[in-house]
Amino acid sequence: MSIPDPEHFVAGGMTDIGQVREVNQDYCGEFADPAHTRRLFIVADGMGGHLGGEVASRMAVETAAEVFESGGDDPAALLRIALETANQRVHAAAQNDMELAGMGTTGVCLLFEAGGRGWVAHVGDSRAYRLRGDSFEQITEDHSVVGALIRMGHITEEEARMHPQRNEILRAIGTNEDVEVQVTPLDIQPGDRYLLCSDGLSGLVLDADIAEVMARQEPEDAVRTLVQMANLEGGNDNITVQVVSIPGDASIPKKKKARTTDVIVTPSLGRRGPPAWIWGLGIGLLGILGWLLIRR
Ligand code: CA
Repeated sequence: MSIPDPEHFVAGGMTDIGQVREVNQDYCGEFADPAHTRRLFIVADGMGGHLGGEVASRMAVETAAEVFESGGDDPAALLRIALETANQRVHAAAQNDMELAGMGTTGVCLLFEAGGRGWVAHVGDSRAYRLRGDSFEQITEDHSVVGALIRMGHITEEEARMHPQRNEILRAIGTNEDVEVQVTPLDIQPGDRYLLCSDGLSGLVLDADIAEVMARQEPEDAVRTLVQMANLEGGNDNITVQVVSIPGDASIPKKKKARTTDVIVTPSLGRRGPPAWIWGLGIGLLGILGWLLIRR
């Protein structure tokens, strides 16, 4: 089954201040190119005192969208340039305004193109996940201290949630003159669901619970439910979630496929006739009958 054009993908997005913070430093957006052949989804989680975090995340999203809308032949290169340009602008603004000094932001984007092609690009610890059938996977690696410690096998995912350095990221947009953007191509299949989020969701709600909501609810309802769940867990940070659903056979779980195969196998065995033990039993009974007849 082929994948419809991105304009037919179903999406939902939401950002929420949470229960504790006084401002929402997260920002997100969804954009289409003028020809409506590509779509961009982006989540940014800003940091920096006073106004800094809010300004950085919004500036990063608006800059990335501007570059995306200007177009280019190579979508992977376009994503890289979008986040690099965001880096330059946020960095320059931080240099030029004392109140914004030191500001920065994470950035995670999904870009979908007609023909079933897609890419994920990110800087920092905001995440992208994919739900396919019953498998739910993080498709970005966190550029964070705890992310690196997990990859080296020093701590577990559970320990990372309580780690004193859990908020320290190793790469950010705007904090340095240059930034290294990680761009990864996606292998998209009909029925896939993708999720972008800030750590206000992934740090509070377990992956298994996120996966269940994504499987059960359409994107617009799913983002609302996920924000509610993070708030019920304490909402200690700003919460931002975007979900994109690729139309298609709603991701048939592997177990169901196996059952279909079983059904096909059974009648083909049946056509081979009764199993050998029935023939054996039949011959045995005929033998006993013959012996009884001879004895009479
Ligand atoms: Ca955050």
